[in-house]
Amino acid sequence: MKDNVSSLYHQPLMEAFYTELQQIVAEKPLQVFFRADDIGKIDDNFTVMMEMFRQYRLPLCLAVVPQWMTAERWRGMSRFGASDGLWCWHQHGYCHENHEKVGKNNEFGESRSETEVRKELKAGYDRLATLLGDAFYPVFTPPWNRCSRMTLNVLQEIGYHAVSRSIGVQPEVKGLPDFQVNVDLHTAKEKDGQQAVERLLGDCRQGVRMGRLGIMLHHQRMNNHAVYFLERLLQILSRQSGITFCTYRDFIDEQGCLKPVGIG
Ligand SMILES: [Zn+2]
Repeated sequence: MKDNVSSLYHQPLMEAFYTELQQIVAEKPLQVFFRADDIGKIDDNFTVMMEMFRQYRLPLCLAVVPQWMTAERWRGMSRFGASDGLWCWHQHGYCHENHEKVGKNNEFGESRSETEVRKELKAGYDRLATLLGDAFYPVFTPPWNRCSRMTLNVLQEIGYHAVSRSIGVQPEVKGLPDFQVNVDLHTAKEKDGQQAVERLLGDCRQGVRMGRLGIMLHHQRMNNHAVYFLERLLQILSRQSGITFCTYRDFIDEQGCLKPVGIG
């Protein structure tokens, strides 16, 4: 067993779980987007994830760490159809390193100077724009879903269209849309599998109430049970009428402005 695998997947999930999940997502019309973090290396799990989304024709926002991406890796990823409308390749930090000596991990936290932040954000943006070309979409997912207020301001100045963090994260941001994830498939902290199941279902219920599920993936942490779960989830969602599958591109218009909320 991989030791970074969520307790959700220490054993197969019960059929009753899938039935409940199906009922939850059938309650009302819904937007769904998926965000896969820590993209940069091609390994078996990455391949499994990409092939699964392609098979179900479901879109996926891919958060790419600029310093992990190379021309060779991008060529490898291009075989999944790099510019396919299914994918929304965007930026995940700069080199995915923690810079805080105390407190929670944060690449762009309070200890960074504005000069450093601006330099790294810009370098990351330019690197991805150069390597990925038109496939790169200027949305920023901060590593660990958190960054300082100053970072948010600099992102806005540089011209990113949006950020994507976890629901409820501070600081709140004005003028820069935040496409929040509210369902975490692979990094839940619960030690107990049943508690993790209940949390997942609770988060799905809350997302449905809000009209949007933002589902976060960490493919490196998938074991066989997690792969099976992902496939069942994609099956359930793709068969459900009333769900609109989106990427960030669907939330933003040609001028880089937020589109009015609409489902259908
Ligand atoms: Zn990450």
